[in-house]
Amino acid sequence: MAVPKAKTSKQRKHTRSANWKLEAPNLSACPQCHELKMNHKACPNCGYYDGKLVVDKK
Ligand SMILES: [Zn+2]
Repeated sequence: MAVPKAKTSKQRKHTRSANWKLEAPNLSACPQCHELKMNHKACPNCGYYDGKLVVDKK
């Protein structure tokens, strides 16, 4: 393992992790069923993407 010339201090480590936040995923309404869905993903409710049925929902 490499030996760092300057060790990361507790404060520096904690400051870095304090600025690391979770972001909410981008959601938009499905044009097919108007449910919220993730952008660039097939709708989990109706299985439509770009006006076409891509995931068969039973
Ligand atoms: Zn949908």
